[in-house]
Amino acid sequence: MFATLNVKTSSQTEMVDVTGQVQQELSKSGVEEGRLTLYVPHTTAAITINEGADPAVKADILMVLNQMVPWKANYKHMEGNSPAHVKASLIGSAETVIISAGRLVLGTWQRIFFCEFDGPRNRKLHLQIASL
Ligand code: ZN
Repeated sequence: MFATLNVKTSSQTEMVDVTGQVQQELSKSGVEEGRLTLYVPHTTAAITINEGADPAVKADILMVLNQMVPWKANYKHMEGNSPAHVKASLIGSAETVIISAGRLVLGTWQRIFFCEFDGPRNRKLHLQIASL
């Protein structure tokens, strides 16, 4: 089963918790045992799984990314958003989650985050849910 979620971002750089939306799509699919692939079809956004309990964690991740990839540097790309492209490649455009008993198998503190690096924008997140 294939589905696309719409993700509306509200800042230039942010991590949006999409775990609830993803679980909702999984429940609609009726798949009990299988594998869920998340795929971001953008060049300046990404997907990651990390701690959602303490919001300071995502703030720290974004702080470190911003330090690693400064906005001002000798970039060649004319569009002016090279840092966003670099961050998207560092984080990656896909994640896989195991499905068991109709639920996403995530660790206690894990959440799925859509990562915006050149917002705010209306983004898409593709899901493929495979029954195994
Ligand atoms: Zn660009």
